[in-house]
Amino acid sequence: MENDLLKNRAWIEIDLSNLKHNVEEIKKILPKSTKMMAVVKGNAYGHEMIPISKYLSKLGIKDFAVATLEEGIQLRDSGLKGNILILGYTSIENIQYVIKYHLIQTIVDEKYAFELSKLPFSIPVQIKINTGMNRIGIRDNEVDSIRKIYSYPNLEVLGLFSHLSSSEQYCKEDREYTYLQIYRFETLLENLKKYSIFPAVHLQSSYGVLNYPEFVYDYVRIGMILYGCHSEINMNLKVSLDLKPVLSLYARVTTVKEIEEGEFVGYDRTYQALTNRKIATLSIGYADGYPRELSKNHAVVYLNGSYAPIIGRICMDQMMIDVTNIDVKEGDIATLIGSMDEIRAEKVAFKAGTITNELLSRLGSRLKIIAIEKSKN
Ligand SMILES: *Cc1c(COP(=O)(O)O)cnc(C)c1O
Repeated sequence: MENDLLKNRAWIEIDLSNLKHNVEEIKKILPKSTKMMAVVKGNAYGHEMIPISKYLSKLGIKDFAVATLEEGIQLRDSGLKGNILILGYTSIENIQYVIKYHLIQTIVDEKYAFELSKLPFSIPVQIKINTGMNRIGIRDNEVDSIRKIYSYPNLEVLGLFSHLSSSEQYCKEDREYTYLQIYRFETLLENLKKYSIFPAVHLQSSYGVLNYPEFVYDYVRIGMILYGCHSEINMNLKVSLDLKPVLSLYARVTTVKEIEEGEFVGYDRTYQALTNRKIATLSIGYADGYPRELSKNHAVVYLNGSYAPIIGRICMDQMMIDVTNIDVKEGDIATLIGSMDEIRAEKVAFKAGTITNELLSRLGSRLKIIAIEKSKN
């Protein structure tokens, strides 16, 4: 698509130089022997999986994780080399595609492993261990089940991993639970050793690495912090990195007008002007994934050097802002998510009543995505 069409209405810009910066920052705290597996599920948390993955591949990353078979196929079809682990469930009927596209399937429980073992072809897998998250995985004390999986001739076990449920906040209760999960994981590894099973293992994701860097495994699975954001504002972390947000969200000003004291703006007349105001309409709405919840909570956008408050209800495709004290004309570009303090993804997510991960991964497919390399570093 022509470049001017990309910036017609509302779009996302991905700054690959910031992605590179974040990779370098994360590498600084990883032991030499630990490899980074890039988690690019959910369209790389809304950043567009293929350009992000290809760039990471250029930076030397060889291991990728997706949530679904379809994401894995899309990634492989793009020509990406390297390992692609499917973190979630793939139906037995579709396992053939795991083979066809050279993907790696996660074993979600014992029964699933047994079903896979009956198939007439060899399947590359990693075993998920449930150490206390209780989402998917085989319980850490089921050593015999795990040994059995190793004994199935057609399952090629390439790794074994678990997931921490409470690693995000470095506070006492969460630390205790995380240490319990780590203890269970370590105990399992000790037990497997007795049977001469030495898998490639991984446990930590972004916050596992930032809060429990002293635990060293073969891989870490990094999602959120690759994209230069934190899940929430004001997180209590053991290690803090200098991260730069990769994503910015923009929309055009479509009209600018004066309204008089007493006039209403938007659906349900939730906003009434107390004095004469100047307002602008932006070509973006909740169908683009910009949460309608932001109609409340004093959310702002950034426009021509100032913050402009959102007024009235955010509509499906458009929204209104107060630009009374801002010099604005039609066609100007507003930033809705970016590096300025009040519109950082963490803050916007907070005002929308959610976490950054959800805000970014739900940005809509109608938005165009432009990858750039801003500051060559
Ligand atoms: C999503 C996910 C990750 C990445 O988590 P971040 O906190 O974004 O780094 C890692 N492991 C699993 C199993 C996941 O589902």
